This record gives sequence, C-alpha cells and structure tokens, in this order.
Amino acid sequence: MELYRMTAEELSALLEKKELSAAELTKAQFERIHAVEPDVQSYITLTEEEALRRAAEIDRRRSEGEQLSKLAGIPIGIKDNLCTKGVRTTCASKMLGNFEPVYSATAVEKLEDAGLVMTGKLNMDEFAMGSSTENSAFQKTKNPRDLTRVPGGSSGGSAAAVAAGECTFALGSDTGGSIRQPAGFCGVVGFKPTYGTVSRYGLVAFASSLDQIGPLARSVKDAALLCDLITGRDPRDTTSVPGDGSNYYGSLNPEMKGKVLGLPKEFFGEGISDEVKSAVLAAAKVYEGLGATVKEVSVPLIDYSLPTYYILSSAEASSNLARYDGVKYGFRAAEFDGLVDMYNRTRSEGFGSEVKRRIMLGTYVLSSGYYDAYYKRAQKVQRLLRQSFDEVFAGCDALITPTSPTTAFKLGEKLSDSMQMYLTDICTVSINIAGLPAMSLPCGRDKEGLPIGLQLIGNRFCDQTIFDVGAAFEAEFGRLDVAL
Ligand code: GLN
Repeated sequence: MELYRMTAEELSALLEKKELSAAELTKAQFERIHAVEPDVQSYITLTEEEALRRAAEIDRRRSEGEQLSKLAGIPIGIKDNLCTKGVRTTCASKMLGNFEPVYSATAVEKLEDAGLVMTGKLNMDEFAMGSSTENSAFQKTKNPRDLTRVPGGSSGGSAAAVAAGECTFALGSDTGGSIRQPAGFCGVVGFKPTYGTVSRYGLVAFASSLDQIGPLARSVKDAALLCDLITGRDPRDTTSVPGDGSNYYGSLNPEMKGKVLGLPKEFFGEGISDEVKSAVLAAAKVYEGLGATVKEVSVPLIDYSLPTYYILSSAEASSNLARYDGVKYGFRAAEFDGLVDMYNRTRSEGFGSEVKRRIMLGTYVLSSGYYDAYYKRAQKVQRLLRQSFDEVFAGCDALITPTSPTTAFKLGEKLSDSMQMYLTDICTVSINIAGLPAMSLPCGRDKEGLPIGLQLIGNRFCDQTIFDVGAAFEAEFGRLDVAL
C-alpha cells in the first residue's frame, strides 16, 4: 500500500521495525503533496527542507539505539493559527501575512519533542472565523472528495490534507465546530477535547473561553495517539487542567454492552437533510447491534445555541483582535495621516470582511446599553445549556447526532449569505458553549458519494468514553480511504 494511505499506527510499526526510515517516509510524503496540492491547495506554507532535516535526525537517533516515541518520524500538518517558532504563522490573514513567531505553541512543542515531522502550515478561515475555509486571505482549499466543493471550516486545510494523503494527521482548532465540521465534510476523524485539557498557549486567540486544539486523523486510534501527546496541564495556560499522562490509545475499550447512548431529538429536526438523518440513525442501530442501549433524549435549549454562540464568540473576538493595531506585530498600512488614521487604515486593509463583521457584532453586544440585553443574557443561556447537558448525561454515556445538517456544499454557494453559513454550525456550537468533548467520524455517504459525519458527544472530562464509542463504530463501519 502507498505510504500516504496508511495510518500513523501502521507507519509507526514499520518505523519501529526499521522496515521504513523517517527520511523515506518524509520524501514520499512530499512527493504526494506535490502531486495533489495544485488541486487541493490545503497548505499555506510548506516546510520541506526542515522536515527532511528532522527526519534524518530521527533516523540517526533511532540507529543509535535511542528509545523514541511511538510517533517519531510521522508527518503532521499544523493549522496556521498555531504558533511555530521561525515559521510564518498567518491565521490566513493579511494582518499576519509576514508574522514569524519567536516561540512555538505548547501543543506544537510537544509534537516536536516526540519527534513528529511537521510538513507545513495549513489553510483555514481567517482567524478561524468561518465554516468553509473560503474566508482565507490567500487561497481556496478544495474538498478532495469533490473538488467543486468546500472542505468545511475553519480547519478546512487540515481536514483536506488528511483526506488527500498530504499528511498522516493534523492539528486543528475548534471554537464552534471547526475540527468536527470539516472532518465530517472530508470523511476523516476529528476530535474536540474537553475545554482545558489541551493547552491553548500559542494558539492565536479567537474566542478564548471556547477555543480548543485537537487532532484530525484517518482513524479513531490515530486521533487518540495524537491526543495523548498534546493533553496536559500547562502553567502557561491558566485555563488548562491537570491530567497529564492520559492514555486514550492504550486504554481503548470498544465494549458497548452496558453503554447507554442518547439520541437528542433537537438535533434531528428542521434543516437536517434526510440522507444525513438516516445515516446517523443507521449508526445508532449499529450500536444497538453491539449491545448498547439507545434512547431518545432531549436538550431543550439547543435552539438558542446558535445566537448564544455568535454573541459570546464575537464579543471575545472583538476584544482579542484589538491587539492588531499596526504597532505590535503584523501588517501596517503604507500611508496614513496620524495615529488614529494609522489604526483605521491598518485594520480596514488588514482584516477581511467576515472578521470585520465579527468585530463589529462583538463590539456592539459589549457596548453599554446593549451589554445586558445581549452579552449578559447569552451568558445566562450558556449556564442553562450546560445544566441541560448535565441532566442528560446523568442518564447517558454519550450522545449521537449528525455533525452537520448537510454534506459538503459547493464552493461559493453560501459565501454571500452569512446567515446560511452560520446555520451550518447548528449541530456543533452547543458543545463548545458547554465545554464538552466531541468527535466526528464518517458514518456513510450521500447519493453523490460525499461523506456524512456522525457526531459523538461526551460529558466533561469523559474524553475516553468518546474514543471508546468512536472506536467501536469504526471497527464495524470501517474507515474511508484517502481521496484522489
Ligand atoms: N464556523 C464557526 C464560526 O465561524 C466555528 C469556527 C471555529 O470553530 N473556529 O465561528
């Protein structure tokens, strides 16, 4: 089998047995990238030279008998909002077009320490705002399952690269669905960990109370392996929680007998396509066949999750993005007349229209006179939503829902209608609002052959359960092969 079709688990076995060298693997990986990248356009920056150098170093260490981590030598792509020391980190924005961080994100550092080989930085919606990766200031990534369609967003570059065999797995970030929705659209596995389990240090902030880093991979086991590496308390992120030494991969237990899975009826209502609905209900039947109990449940406040998400996330974004003023880093307008004009022109020219829309919305909901009516009320709904998930999880181990209401849509189809674009997040945003772990994995295809995503939602800090439930389904349904 071609190396680019293999999982990290398979490649790691070959590397450990010395049947394959990291240098050979890296070379083959870049051949694949050069073959399909003109069509897919998932990378903003490629780091081929450095990757080959690192791979040679891994081979040298292995030949000297050093005990390396299981994933040493495996190629990984990184979303371009994770800081990488000395490697341009753009957030797909003109504002950071020439930004070279002087440090790496904690998650990236951990991968480097474990000997993974970074292939490059992956395309995304500007500052992670969007659901199709079309808001990138640089290029439009195509869905490798159908090049006329979007890969989803905002981690669209990460999902497309994994689906097209342009890296073995990738890191993405998820504020309202940005790992899970593109994973669903591209037919790969995407996991958003419980808020706080992965350090956000070095992740360029969008909405800090919702942002979380996580893996996109070709299998549930690969996602578990990657999560084991990046999870843990970090003194540089005060919202990170203790929990070092997680072993999701080693503890995987796909036994479904005795598990209770809930089907929340609010996730199967208006707007969810019939094909998506029936694929997810068929997945529920698979679980029943494996001995799980499946029951209908209700999370009553889901209807309010979308407006709540867009108020909270935009409020935080308007504050987080105030730092891009043409002084501290990044882009500055070439011509201006005084300080205030410099701010105005820099921000007008440096940000794209979706980012400006969020900053304006966020500033509005935080302004005096509207704060109580919008921001404060959204925080109250957040509390109630958390409570209603708590109630549901008192009687269930995990919830089964669609990842998105439809399969991947056409490039350009929703670009001019923000409301339509926002509605694609209807199944994912509530999970971030409540800080829960959730996974998307393929559970079927529609009549045009496009992948359908199954979302599994767990209780806070029950990430292991989600890996277990995901692995059980994958063992029955199988994985989707690399596209193209
Ligand atoms: N699509 C959502 C948004 O535009 C989610 C983005 C994300 O998770 N980063 O805000």
